[in-house]
Amino acid sequence: MAESEIDLKKTYDAVVVGSGAAGGMAAHVLTSRGLQVLMLEAGKKLPIEKELRSMEWPYNNEHRGELPPDRHSLTFNEYTIRNPPYGPGFEKSKHLHSYIGSSDYVKNIVVDERENPLTGTNYAWVRARCLGGKTNIWGRLALRLSDYDFKAKSRDGFGEDWPISYSDLAPYYDKVDLYLGITGVKENLPHLPDSIFQRPTKLNCAEVTLQQSLRKMGRVLTQYRAGVTTDGLKHNKYRSRCWGRGACERKGGCDIHAAFDSPTGLIYPAADTGKLTLRTNAVVREVTVDPQTGKASGVHFIDSETMKDYNVRAKVVVVAASTLESARLLLLSKSQLYPNGLANSSGHVGHNFCEHIMGPGVTGQAKNLVGKPPTLDDGRPGGFYLTRFRNLTEKHPKFIRGYGFEGGSGARMFPQGTDAHGFGSSFKEEIRQNQGSYIGMGAFGEVLARYENFVDLDPVVKDKWGVPALRFHYKFGDNEHRMAEDMKETAQEMFEAAGFKIMHVSDRVLTEGWSIHEMGTARMGNDPKTSVLNQFEQSHDVKNLFVVDGSAFVNASCQNPTWTIMALCWRSCDYLADELGKGNL
Ligand SMILES: Cc1cc2nc3c(=O)[nH]c(=O)nc-3n(C[C@H](O)[C@H](O)[C@H](O)COP(=O)(O)OP(=O)(O)OC[C@H]3O[C@@H](n4cnc5c(N)ncnc54)[C@H](O)[C@@H]3O)c2cc1C
Ligand code: SF4
Repeated sequence: MAESEIDLKKTYDAVVVGSGAAGGMAAHVLTSRGLQVLMLEAGKKLPIEKELRSMEWPYNNEHRGELPPDRHSLTFNEYTIRNPPYGPGFEKSKHLHSYIGSSDYVKNIVVDERENPLTGTNYAWVRARCLGGKTNIWGRLALRLSDYDFKAKSRDGFGEDWPISYSDLAPYYDKVDLYLGITGVKENLPHLPDSIFQRPTKLNCAEVTLQQSLRKMGRVLTQYRAGVTTDGLKHNKYRSRCWGRGACERKGGCDIHAAFDSPTGLIYPAADTGKLTLRTNAVVREVTVDPQTGKASGVHFIDSETMKDYNVRAKVVVVAASTLESARLLLLSKSQLYPNGLANSSGHVGHNFCEHIMGPGVTGQAKNLVGKPPTLDDGRPGGFYLTRFRNLTEKHPKFIRGYGFEGGSGARMFPQGTDAHGFGSSFKEEIRQNQGSYIGMGAFGEVLARYENFVDLDPVVKDKWGVPALRFHYKFGDNEHRMAEDMKETAQEMFEAAGFKIMHVSDRVLTEGWSIHEMGTARMGNDPKTSVLNQFEQSHDVKNLFVVDGSAFVNASCQNPTWTIMALCWRSCDYLADELGKGNL
């Protein structure tokens, strides 16, 4: 895709900040509605196929796929004992990455932590500053939310209900399914609505054993609902159907773009309309405001390479920089009219920050599979999803809300989960005997959206571009810890019921942020005193300002957020285009 020159004299219909799932969707919907859109992305446009190299063998890689020696990716312990921005102890590493940046294939996709510091409480903040953002390497699990989430307060009294119901969003989930492609199996569950699925992947032997055993307990295990096109998409020339190589699972990312990513799924098709101008290396520093009208007038950005400043004008500003970066941008956009930051008359920007708690899980072995001939099990974009079962029909005595498990089993190209000891031929024999018999799963649980969990701007620390860093005030609470206890117990109980030999049970809660599912920093609601956005992700305070990423979520649910981010964004941008057309913005 050729980047057209930005026109600094022009007033664009809309400027979109960020090019991930949210920014890409905004560009797609707004250009298809005929608007002239400028997209500003802080990172580079990477030659992504050369980065991901899905089919490269380890022996063809200088470091067997690991990071080069001058780079380091943070471990669990380092997040726990070291203070960001990670000074002493890391002198030998020229570049520091989050825990997800541990391979040669993602090293240029995730940010350098030193260039992008954070302060405050420990937080494993994974950021991808490049065209497409985190969608280049996301885990593809594409789930819908339901009224168990949208109306959670009405069920258990905690927090707030969303200003929308499932029926408001269902038509937009359908649009996302059809435009981007999703694989899965219908289950007719009220708490995990079905999508319009393409051809499903297959469960393997141990997974079917677990599924059947769970049925007796009234619990549902289903095929991984992956945001991957298995049948192909006739309307998109940039994406291929899934070849079942499993590379996305092994390395992260899919270089033939069967897995959804924002550039090939949304941005390139938007550019083909002739209505999109893309400017990469554009770090947006502030949303500017017209002091006469109080409306957003455009944005101020810094070229990340030359450090030159630019101002651009637009009729509407669409912030889609990801949940935490969007909150940062609103807080940075202080003016005489808005001294607490933009869209922040409620004081809720940065607050109610929530995500998913991770860590507890189990590894087991299906003994009947030991010594069986190898099978091809990892040629698929995901394993299984065990859906939420807590606090649906019964009330758990120790915690509210719920959790689900992601997991998988089967023979892999590089056997994992083994417990083999020794060396030489007996070691190899043991690996051969056991490979394919292991099964594991880990939980993702809802972290309650609480006002006390928030981010603000650090008064001292700045990033490489001189922009104040985010400061975290965020900790898991009692509800999360009690839920984590239950995750561990049920994981073990379910594997035992399925007849698996238990290899390892983990009760270790991972550092805050590990889930990479940030939400809630500019929540939507009907009351401008307690929410930042209305149901169309439009600022209550500034009517030509929209924030269309996970910031708008009212609670985290336990289902992964990306499909919902895009469905909400599509709905909001349809409304935006209507309102702009009517002269209401
Ligand atoms: C390894 C991994 C696995 C994941 N697995 C799943 C999963 O299975 N299911 C799921 O639902 N989600 C998953 N996620 C999360 C998913 O990737 C995010 O929910 C999704 O990408 C959010 O989209 P976004 O547009 O809000 O943010 P991003 O994709 O992060 O995009 C934001 C973009 O904005 C840009 N930006 C930031 N600040 C500025 C600024 N000031 N100026 C200009 N541009 C800016 C960034 O550079 C970035 O490109 C995973 C993420 C990772 C990394
Ligand atoms: S399994 Fe499918 S989605 Fe995953 S890397 Fe291979 S082709 Fe891409």
